Amino acid sequence: MNNDWDALVEFDEQHLWHPYTSLSHPTPVFPVKSASGVRLTLADGRELIDGMSSWWAAIHGYNQPTLNAAIENQLKYMSHVMFGGLTHKPAIDLAKKLIDITHDDLQHVFFADSGSVAVEVTIKMALQYWASLGQPQKQRLLTIKNGYHGDTFGAMAVCDPDNGMHHLFSNVLAQHLFAKSPNCSGQTAYDQAAIDDFERLLKTNIDTIAAVIIEPLVQGAGGMRFYSAAYLKKVRELCDKHNVLLILDEIATGFGRTGTLFAYEQAHIAPDILCVGKALTGGYLSLAATLCSSKVADGIGSGQHPTLMHGPTFMANPLACAVANASLDVLFASDWQASVHSIETQLKAELAPCSVFAAVKDVRVKGAIGVIELHQTIDIHWMQPRFVELGVWVRPFSNLVYVMPPYIIEETDLTQVTSAIKQVVSEMSDSPSQPGL
Ligand SMILES: *Cc1c(COP(=O)(O)O)cnc(C)c1O
Repeated sequence: MNNDWDALVEFDEQHLWHPYTSLSHPTPVFPVKSASGVRLTLADGRELIDGMSSWWAAIHGYNQPTLNAAIENQLKYMSHVMFGGLTHKPAIDLAKKLIDITHDDLQHVFFADSGSVAVEVTIKMALQYWASLGQPQKQRLLTIKNGYHGDTFGAMAVCDPDNGMHHLFSNVLAQHLFAKSPNCSGQTAYDQAAIDDFERLLKTNIDTIAAVIIEPLVQGAGGMRFYSAAYLKKVRELCDKHNVLLILDEIATGFGRTGTLFAYEQAHIAPDILCVGKALTGGYLSLAATLCSSKVADGIGSGQHPTLMHGPTFMANPLACAVANASLDVLFASDWQASVHSIETQLKAELAPCSVFAAVKDVRVKGAIGVIELHQTIDIHWMQPRFVELGVWVRPFSNLVYVMPPYIIEETDLTQVTSAIKQVVSEMSDSPSQPGL
């Protein structure tokens, strides 16, 4: 790396916060100069094969010509106008598409500027729905442990109560209800004990519960856990039986990642409210959306306060909507099911051998998501540079090494990613004195 970059990285280390990092104990960061297809080019010229899709988002890879063109074209008209009192075609087109590709029940769209904000909006909708129906005491949410729904205060209050940052702020967070998370190891098996716990909490607190919020089939940043469609189906049945709303957070799972366009399709159910984000713009710009049914929208509208009190400055940003429209066009013009399926098959075959290593607790794959769960928390100071040396971009956290590559990744590139994972996990297992353990 040349001197210019050394100075810039040093400045970064002293002045910039990165996600979930400390300024007093910085972890290494790697300067990226450009990205194209599935490759990130570092400032020193090294190329890394991307295993992360920049956190579920860049499903078509980087520097995608159609997505680039959509932004360039939209720039000629306007990059932004306020959405209060004005509207525009990129937003209308995108809302139409989202209504079209999601369940028929979902008919109304709120555009938010990030996933966390979409979750905040969802919570407001649920609470306001019950307030409008004359039940303002219904203010609590029921969720499951190991969830992740974002970093803002409303969203944080429904994240896993034990891992993450929840405990730091527990005194100021809304108090919600957490059921046992469904069994992860037998992905197809139905977990009766988890359902019993869920139903018990639902029944005993029904007077105060507004909604259930859950990530369908895959719990992302709260533990990379997979659970059965049968569990999700049962959750929907219980929500109907006890008359509470079901909110599905598909911010991570949406747009094909689990093998179906939305994970809820595998349980043959529909949510009352749905959050999408991350891959919505193909990873180009920050945009998310909350969709709801007419039942929810009409409920809110029938109340004494029929206005949904939310309206971000950059709501429905035209550049973001334009690139989201293009991303959906690219997705549907491709055989994404086949791509996700072949990534799944390859991840299963190539990650399975990792289970023999002493450091490994579990290996699991669902759709284009591969997870190696380790017995112990990884040492990021050792493991991150090691992955870079091996020419791949894999960003582990806690005790999890996981990948969700762009759908366009080629077989040989994916093999390089899985080989690097095997290598790193074997090095951890070989020498217990190694900093990786
Ligand atoms: C990432 C994520 C969020 C938060 O989205 P941001 O855009 O980071 O605010 C919420 N829910 C789930 C399931 C996520 O994976």
